[in-house]
Amino acid sequence: MEKELSASKAGFPCMRNLWYTVNGYSTEGEANKRTQRIFDVGTCLEPLIVEWLRQDGWTVEYNPGSQEAELKVEIPVKGGTITGHPDCIISKGTIQNALVDIKTMNDRSFGEWKKSGTLKAKPQYATQLHIYAMGLMAQGRKIEHLGIVGVNKNNSEMYIDFFSYDPFRAENIKDYAGQIFTGAREPELGCPAESWACNYCEFSETCGLHKKPAPVVKGGEPLTLTEDESIIAAMHELRQSRELAREVREMEAHAKEVLNERVRDKGLRGIQGGGLVFTMTERTSQKFDSTAFKEAHPELLGEYTKSSTSVVYDVKEAV
Ligand code: SF4
Repeated sequence: MEKELSASKAGFPCMRNLWYTVNGYSTEGEANKRTQRIFDVGTCLEPLIVEWLRQDGWTVEYNPGSQEAELKVEIPVKGGTITGHPDCIISKGTIQNALVDIKTMNDRSFGEWKKSGTLKAKPQYATQLHIYAMGLMAQGRKIEHLGIVGVNKNNSEMYIDFFSYDPFRAENIKDYAGQIFTGAREPELGCPAESWACNYCEFSETCGLHKKPAPVVKGGEPLTLTEDESIIAAMHELRQSRELAREVREMEAHAKEVLNERVRDKGLRGIQGGGLVFTMTERTSQKFDSTAFKEAHPELLGEYTKSSTSVVYDVKEAV
């Protein structure tokens, strides 16, 4: 039987998973159901997002459906074929003939992708787009840009990240697919560095490589393991908010550095521009020196120390 690998799957960061996929292993359980539901939500929202693109002035050649889609690509490689159905070709102003795929993402994923770009944050999407581009260009279509139209499922923000077609990347994709098609047995490369991959893997039981994180013990008791999505989402939010807070502190430090250099050091006490007013006020504050007090009056420290209880929230990767 001819082996096939779909463009949307080809960038999955585990060669072992792809080997199971092209060799017809059956998918399993909850991870597969969850992946399918995420995919179904994206498919339902696609026509609406195409409409939003048109409202934003983009000319959109939309390729709905899958098996019956008009635009199809088939790229023969050693041992099999890479196949796919591109979503859209869009044009507006200086951006013409941009081949794009529509992706819906949760808040955390959208934020990371928007900040770092597709090539860094979602290389699997770049692989998918390169396959579509290879196939369409082989059919004589002009493709000038590649891109991802991302929509944040939490707040409906839409953003487009464009990137260039890279012929070396395209060749590597074909070589890699050839290795998967012709591999006599599943590759033994261990779990991928991308921690999400094993969690979303539909072959994790067949594979057997993915170990659940070791239980963490606190106060002599193992912590309760949860699959409650609202709790997991809240943990992700806490981690993301900590990262955002760090970024905000860095932004503030940078702004103060510029203002010190350009305003304060010139002896100005304020300045106006760009619809904003910036002023500086000097304040003297008193601070209790607890270290000096401790050294001078160690006997009084206990007498004037009060206990209070607060909760410290922490979140980190399970290993
Ligand atoms: S469980 Fe992990 S290592 Fe095994 S096939 Fe899936 S993604 Fe690859």
